[in-house]
Amino acid sequence: MDELKRRLETYRKLGLKLTPQRLAILEYLENTREHPSAEDIYNALKERFPSMSFATVYNTLEVLVERGLVKELGIDPSKKRFDSFTHPHHHFICRKCGKILDVERNFDITIPAELSDCEVTNFQVVFEGLCRDCKKTD
Ligand SMILES: [Zn+2]
Ligand SMILES: [Zn+2]
Repeated sequence: MDELKRRLETYRKLGLKLTPQRLAILEYLENTREHPSAEDIYNALKERFPSMSFATVYNTLEVLVERGLVKELGIDPSKKRFDSFTHPHHHFICRKCGKILDVERNFDITIPAELSDCEVTNFQVVFEGLCRDCKKTD
């Protein structure tokens, strides 16, 4: 199955109306590891779709997050960032330029005693600091 067909199939399964804009949003997310914000996606696509509104991007992202196709990251205090790489992984965020890098590594952690009566299904490690580029110019 080619890429477009696969994407169309995904949207169909989600019960989403298939618009070229929505396909472009999913395609953009699948082809980047930059963890873009809704604004980044809007800016990247608005030339191709001059009639697309920011609300369309935002609403599409909400649906994709709700259906588990895209993850919403709360690690950037200035804005929500989105990640189409949905299998469990960890992140590094640069406190200067906001770059988010994936950390694909398994961390062996012990569930803390105070959570023993909860069902823990996931955890995330967030590294913070300066990325390679920002470290150089500091
Ligand atoms: Zn940086
Ligand atoms: Zn990620």
